[in-house]
Amino acid sequence: MNTDSVEATASNVSPLAIRKVVIVGGGTAGWMSAALLSKTFGAKLDITLIESDEISTVGVGEATIPHIQSFNRLVGVDENDFIKATQGTFKLAIDFRDWTGPGSRYFHAFGPIGQHVGWLYPHQYWLKARRLGRAGSMDAFCIGAQAALRNKFMPADPKAGNSPLAEISHAYHFDAGLYAAYLRKRAESQGVTRIEGKIVGHAKRAEDGFIESVTLERGETVAGELFIDCSGFRGLLIEQALGAGFEDWSHWLPCNRALAVPCASVTPLTPYTRVTKREAGWQWRIPLQHRIGNGYVYSSDHISDDEAASNLLGRLDGEALGDPRPLRFTPGKRNKAWVKNVVAVGLASGFLEPLESTSIHMIQTALFRLLSLFPDKRFACADIDAYNDQTDVEYRWIRDFIIAHYKLVDEPTPLWRYCRNMAVPESLQEKLDVFASAGRIFANTHDLFREVSWIQVLIGQGLIPERYDPAVDLTSPEDILAHLDGVEQVVSKCVNSMPYHSDYIARTCRAGP
Ligand code: FAD
Repeated sequence: MNTDSVEATASNVSPLAIRKVVIVGGGTAGWMSAALLSKTFGAKLDITLIESDEISTVGVGEATIPHIQSFNRLVGVDENDFIKATQGTFKLAIDFRDWTGPGSRYFHAFGPIGQHVGWLYPHQYWLKARRLGRAGSMDAFCIGAQAALRNKFMPADPKAGNSPLAEISHAYHFDAGLYAAYLRKRAESQGVTRIEGKIVGHAKRAEDGFIESVTLERGETVAGELFIDCSGFRGLLIEQALGAGFEDWSHWLPCNRALAVPCASVTPLTPYTRVTKREAGWQWRIPLQHRIGNGYVYSSDHISDDEAASNLLGRLDGEALGDPRPLRFTPGKRNKAWVKNVVAVGLASGFLEPLESTSIHMIQTALFRLLSLFPDKRFACADIDAYNDQTDVEYRWIRDFIIAHYKLVDEPTPLWRYCRNMAVPESLQEKLDVFASAGRIFANTHDLFREVSWIQVLIGQGLIPERYDPAVDLTSPEDILAHLDGVEQVVSKCVNSMPYHSDYIARTCRAGP
């Protein structure tokens, strides 16, 4: 952008400072962007959000991971108020069903999975107990998993000292439409201007290719200095105007369609997302206060849309509340999420399937990155490169974690046979090899999923290491079993003392009808 001609404003603000931000799109990404930027910058930025009533939001992002608490805190959201407003529930874990055969089940829970022994992760003792024929499920040592199993919930008790009650880690399920509406109210009260209208035609661009304005169908133009593209899969500015390009990861993540349908609530109110492996993909179940969100993520090469719809409708816990809504996607990421004066956030920047509920988290990290590299009108190339490099790394590590689930399924049906035989990224293969040897795992510095997540998922998916860490043998089998018994008993006692999830909600944050 040519800055030579920028005139100083009447105020003492630098003429190089960005003052006008345009957010294109009013889905979860658009309103999260609007809420955070307006809270952070207040009246220093003039923020406009454009959304079209004609183009619906994807509307299915309803399960989260604990990091969303820090986003909510930054935008000033009170937890109980937010749960009420979004018909939300609490989430302690993901319940993986049938991934290692019919009837199999494991939890990927938030928080720790037992007690470290020196530098050893607790699963090392469990591996030894297993060798001794004395191990049950590893979930027994994990407060998040045990509470989930028994439909109990309370937030961490900071006064609980060394007790597992102090280590409970939770996220949320919420109605995506209500979350966007909730954030919209906050953003508008913080000065964001909302324009309803459909953007059409080509964005107006300066000689250097920077976007100057977009035009609405009714003829109005909206000018800006920084554009945040939250227009969803279409990538209105980042792709259609600026041609960022897309890296397609379908060869590792073959699911490319989803059907989503809500159904009536059933009891008990579970504090976890359920994901069940199916023949051509997997099915999600997300419990909210007023309904259950369901969906089937599948590969169109392995099942027809009609068959997928009939499978989904036949496997709901409650009565369907509508027809399944189809969604199509390509797994992968834009080559660059930030090009010139456009930063793509949300689905406009890429898509990884929601097996581990990561997309909303990636909206949040994109926004934190943008804040930490907030530009002025010079749009320094080094800063943009840093933003794109960090985005790239984040995508790749999360991608690897999701591929690991697929790779480890051992089933002779076509989709799963393909996944079992596919070559995975080297970065993942190295992790799997090291883990398969003696159960060691090393999360990378910017890996969202830390060691305890990898351990739960790799063991849960059936990758049992050949050996345990040799350091385990420095402790006697009796002491190892006593240690594990002790942890299991403490966890069980703690869970006994916790309220039921439904009672906790009734007491603190029941939504209106
Ligand atoms: P969208 O919701 O598509 O919003 C796009 C916005 O752009 C809309 O407001 C639209 O009106 C506007 N727009 C587009 N074109 C124009 C135009 N020409 N003019 C004006 N406005 C325009 N994430 C999770 O974290 N957890 C989950 O459990 C989860 N489940 C998912 C399941 C599926 C099947 C899919 C596909 C996604 C899931 N996600 C999940 C991802 C999550 O839904 C998205 O990350 C999130 O909703 C953000 O979407 P968005 O705001 O980027 O795009």
